[in-house]
Amino acid sequence: MPHYPERGPTTSLTKSSLMPALSHAAGEVISYLEMCQAWSASLQKGMNYHLRPDCSVILMSRRSNAPYRDRIEEDGRVLIYEGHDVSRSVQSPSPKLVDQPRTTPRGKLTQNGLFESAATRAKNRECLPEVVAVYEKIHAGIWAFNGFFLLTDAWTESDGRRRVFKFRLELIGSKDDSKPRTATELIHNRVIPSAVKLEVWQRDKGRCVLCGSKNNLHFDHDLPYSKGGSSLTAANIRLLCAKHNLSKGAKIQ
Ligand SMILES: [Zn+2]
Repeated sequence: MPHYPERGPTTSLTKSSLMPALSHAAGEVISYLEMCQAWSASLQKGMNYHLRPDCSVILMSRRSNAPYRDRIEEDGRVLIYEGHDVSRSVQSPSPKLVDQPRTTPRGKLTQNGLFESAATRAKNRECLPEVVAVYEKIHAGIWAFNGFFLLTDAWTESDGRRRVFKFRLELIGSKDDSKPRTATELIHNRVIPSAVKLEVWQRDKGRCVLCGSKNNLHFDHDLPYSKGGSSLTAANIRLLCAKHNLSKGAKIQ
């Protein structure tokens, strides 16, 4: 996968010492294969604690048929990610009726337990919050990189039938209000809701709206009337290829 120079908000975000190096930027649409190549791993599980020493990886899906209930809160800055069920087995034929496990039958921490323990240590200020790269399934084989988040909290709650884990993930960059931000930065520091991503993907038919390319696509915020206001509606978002995304960035700056 080619590397493109980063622009605008991405550049300022990558200056953060917390930000692991990665070949794609938040909002970028990538294939499943590219996602795996970026992490030199075959990503099969939704939760991948410490996939690299500097980062964990989470795969999410908020489509109507998604198996877990993940939420986006605070105008796209916070994700509440649901933990994972026991795997289906002879002992657990109905995973959705069983409390989500913290440990395996042998007493090892599950992914739920590993993420919970990291969140607890960060909350107690025993270590820095874990950095988590979050990907979201858009379509079969098509994923969007939602950006890097910090794992800041974890808890269990009842879903009506059993206990499930919930993890709070805060978009990196969104909490640092010490320096003024441009409208572009503010808008890019938000996760586009899944329903909007899907709507845009279908409306633009999985192609750059300017040249029709199907490669290196990004969800682009079509900068706005309101500059800095919420643009989390499909009307303000379009698909652009990397070339047109970059040429647009050059004009703005
Ligand atoms: Zn294009």
